[in-house]
Amino acid sequence: MPFMTVASSADSSAPQTSARTWAAEVRVPGAATACALIDLEALAHNARVLASKAGRAWMAVVKADAYGHGIEAVARTCLDAGASWLGVAQLDEALHLRGLLDAAGVARPRSADEPASSQAPRLLCWLVPVLSPQQAAREGSPLWEALAGDLDLSVSTLTQLQAVRVAARAQGVVARIHVKVDTGMSRAGAVLEDLPALAREARAAQDAGEVDVVGLWSHLSRADEPDSGSTEDHLARFRRGEQILNQAGLHPGVRHLSATGGLEWHPHARLDLVRIGIGLYGFSPEPAVATSQELGLRPVMRLQAPLVQVKRIPAGQAVSYGGTWSAPTDRWVGLVPLGYGDGIPRAAASTGPVWVAGRRTTVVGKVCMDQVVIDLGPATDAAGSPLPAPAAAGDRAIVWGDPDRDGEGVPTAEDWARVCSTISYEILTRLGPRVPRVPVG
Ligand SMILES: *Cc1c(COP(=O)(O)O)cnc(C)c1O
Repeated sequence: MPFMTVASSADSSAPQTSARTWAAEVRVPGAATACALIDLEALAHNARVLASKAGRAWMAVVKADAYGHGIEAVARTCLDAGASWLGVAQLDEALHLRGLLDAAGVARPRSADEPASSQAPRLLCWLVPVLSPQQAAREGSPLWEALAGDLDLSVSTLTQLQAVRVAARAQGVVARIHVKVDTGMSRAGAVLEDLPALAREARAAQDAGEVDVVGLWSHLSRADEPDSGSTEDHLARFRRGEQILNQAGLHPGVRHLSATGGLEWHPHARLDLVRIGIGLYGFSPEPAVATSQELGLRPVMRLQAPLVQVKRIPAGQAVSYGGTWSAPTDRWVGLVPLGYGDGIPRAAASTGPVWVAGRRTTVVGKVCMDQVVIDLGPATDAAGSPLPAPAAAGDRAIVWGDPDRDGEGVPTAEDWARVCSTISYEILTRLGPRVPRVPVG
């Protein structure tokens, strides 16, 4: 498939690499600065593993720039791996994605009822802006653009439905909508009490040729607690919501409820379509339930940077703002050119794991905006004799990656999540725009 730019960024003289030997052999032109290598083979592997488990149509969730991995290469790889849907939250993300796909020659579905396929994928956007009817009817409004972009839109409220109807009428097209029912998360979606009115209006809009109610959907709030009974409650409400739509004469063919956690741990909630996010990027939604290795997934991103300085500091010397860490002995320390301005959490002070010179160490002292200091070990032995520096300026530090691919002991984004009391999702998506994403493979 001709997709805009992303050729392999690996040095063409390097031998073709398998995922297992990637670390040793890939040479990245941008390696003089920090970069995030995106292992498209690992991504394709994860997609195959998850798709075969799903056994039905699947959506690659590529919101937030594909969880920080770069939407273009990720979308292309997922389509190649059989995704027939792509999903994003924001309308601007969806329009950007449509532009990339158009430029790459990826077809749009030819007709309103052509089923989604990886050759002509459907794009779903689920955070549609609130517009007045006047705004919605205006040429060039966000909804106008959405319909011109052949996007599928989520609708939770009468206000949203009204705006979509007006935009569709003004444009003379039929809007494809997915009615969202709130099955227990209390985030987006119509609660069951409000659903009959929404369903009636949607039916009227469908009869008027303004919308086509193609989908019914919701989202699980506790899929990562398989024994909580929560998903059964969600499913019961989903079924009730479906009855309400049926009573209004609507029979949406694409019912979807599950993200990665639902796919993995609630097979009965897979329905017609699963929306896969974190698993594609190589992580478990909840490592306490099953680790990414147990799920057969491989981390896709490797965040790395060359050390920009290595030096010796004396015992007792404080490091970084506030002097919160002091060298316990004469010490070698290294400077990594990544900081909270790049998404490295400040919560990782003196704990964030980093791999350098064949061993694992940590950030010492506070995380700065653009840089962190890491410990490289003692600078003198027990007898007080000097020890050589274990690493030199220019040596590569790996902040997170895949231990199987990048070297035993390499930390993962999950390890960072643990020390920062957060989840791998946040570690990945907060990686900032200063860090170039370099697709490989
Ligand atoms: C983010 C998101 C997903 C993907 O969730 P994962 O846990 O990353 O698989 C699916 N559906 C919706 C509505 C989402 O917001």
